[in-house]
Amino acid sequence: MIQKRTIVAIGLIIILISTLTLYYLYPWESEGDSNHCELERDINSGMSIMGLWPHPDDECFVPGIFILAGSKGNKCWVVTLISLDSYPYTPESRELRQQANDWFEDTYLEEYINLNMVRAAPSPDLWHGYPWSNETIKARYITEIEAKQPDILLTFTPYGFSGGLEHTLLSEMITEIWDELTYEPKPKIYWFINTDQGPRSEENNEHELYPPTNILDLDVYSDTLGMTYWEAKVEFWEQYAPSLGALDTWMNTPGNLEGNDRKEYFMRHK
Ligand SMILES: [Zn+2]
Repeated sequence: MIQKRTIVAIGLIIILISTLTLYYLYPWESEGDSNHCELERDINSGMSIMGLWPHPDDECFVPGIFILAGSKGNKCWVVTLISLDSYPYTPESRELRQQANDWFEDTYLEEYINLNMVRAAPSPDLWHGYPWSNETIKARYITEIEAKQPDILLTFTPYGFSGGLEHTLLSEMITEIWDELTYEPKPKIYWFINTDQGPRSEENNEHELYPPTNILDLDVYSDTLGMTYWEAKVEFWEQYAPSLGALDTWMNTPGNLEGNDRKEYFMRHK
């Protein structure tokens, strides 16, 4: 006959093993994966957002943010720098892009502001082959920011995004602009990166530049900012695809929209 003491001991061992098994199977977030970004919290608290970038299609990197903010009724603006006339478009594709920008404005924004800088003959004194100086561009952005007084500024980091020089230049300018803003409280800046773009060199480590609360890593975006709004995000891309070759190719590759693989890619951490 088994002694009572033995039964208790076996029971305790079973409880111990179960506890350890559950502990190790539970998907605890590892330190590297944890998303400290406060943007979602700030959107939920009603903060207004202004997206600041050079190109009138950079919003395609972060549609989820505008979809979420729009669903909360938060005010959103976008300020882009370069005119559609500076793109190697046919008149037809320029018109299609204008329609996409107009759709974005009508659906999610208070206003889509394009500063309409047109490419000119390169000059070493001016902004990278454009006719405006750094100071002129800064002044134009400051005018728009001071007029709307958004709670949040959203832009690239100085390391660019996809290595884009204009993304980098604009990002550096936003840091300078922030120092000159006069309204209170000053806006928070959120910098977006994508750690999924491949290995990042040590010197390109944004995590040493900014507090983690202000870095939005599109690869570890929260569920809500990410793809809770899958259908809305597809609609967003559909508007831009006809005038944005890379997006058009991606959208029209069989399986990318329907296939679980690609959908999963945009639905990380579900
Ligand atoms: Zn761009």
